[in-house]
Amino acid sequence: MKIDLHMHSTRSDGRLTPTELVEVLAHREVDVAALTDHDSTEGLDEAIAAAAAHPALRIVPGIEISASHPTMDNSDVHLLGYFVDRADAALQRQLTALRQEREERGLRMLDNLARLGYPLDWERVRELADGASIGRPHIAHAMVERGYLATYKDAFDGLLNNGGAAFVGRVGVTLEDAARTIRSAGGAAVLAHPLYVEEYATLVPRLPDMGIVGLEAHYANFNADEQRALFGLAKRYGLLPCGGSDYHAMGNENEALPGSDGPPPEVFETLERLAGAG
Ligand SMILES: [Zn+2]
Ligand SMILES: [Zn+2]
Repeated sequence: MKIDLHMHSTRSDGRLTPTELVEVLAHREVDVAALTDHDSTEGLDEAIAAAAAHPALRIVPGIEISASHPTMDNSDVHLLGYFVDRADAALQRQLTALRQEREERGLRMLDNLARLGYPLDWERVRELADGASIGRPHIAHAMVERGYLATYKDAFDGLLNNGGAAFVGRVGVTLEDAARTIRSAGGAAVLAHPLYVEEYATLVPRLPDMGIVGLEAHYANFNADEQRALFGLAKRYGLLPCGGSDYHAMGNENEALPGSDGPPPEVFETLERLAGAG
């Protein structure tokens, strides 16, 4: 059984529309897939409607909220939510505020880049975001397009990376608030890609108190040793070892494809039960 609980569509920074993503999932014979766009549930209706043509595929309503790190300034922590009620008013209020902040932050990073000698056209960045909330990847693509950089990755070497010359941090929501919102919307909260979180080893023990029930241990970009260490941490703190591909359809040669990693059925069933138990 192929279960993949982490992927993105054009409603955030993925390259496939929800419908196109569902076609890839069906083609790859994925059984259960969670669409987890950044700060948006806007792709869920389309994905669920598209999956109606594929009875063997189940789409789980998900979200990936960008929360502020409890102790590290200018650092994000991504919190996944599963089985959230996308009609929940408090959830949508929080997501709208996060998207607005993201837009303001994008404008400020463009100001910084202009000062550094890399002027960009905001409307072009918006076009590249294609209706999704604007993120650093869109700005990086605009820089490559203007010929400032050879590759997209170069933007994250001194300019747009955390602490880079043009970087602007986010205030966002606290991890506790994001977890509370997910829970009150009927969902289960899971820490995304722990190894990308600064000082994760001191953060993980605090997760159960925040009402966070799992962490991503089956994460396609973590190697076997890294995953083993995360399984150990999950076990030690009573957290569910969840995970997935974090597929964006970027087309990189080594990009993990949907269904390439994820938790076993019993972990998924427990996750669903915990979401229902709210
Ligand atoms: Zn993430
Ligand atoms: Zn993600």
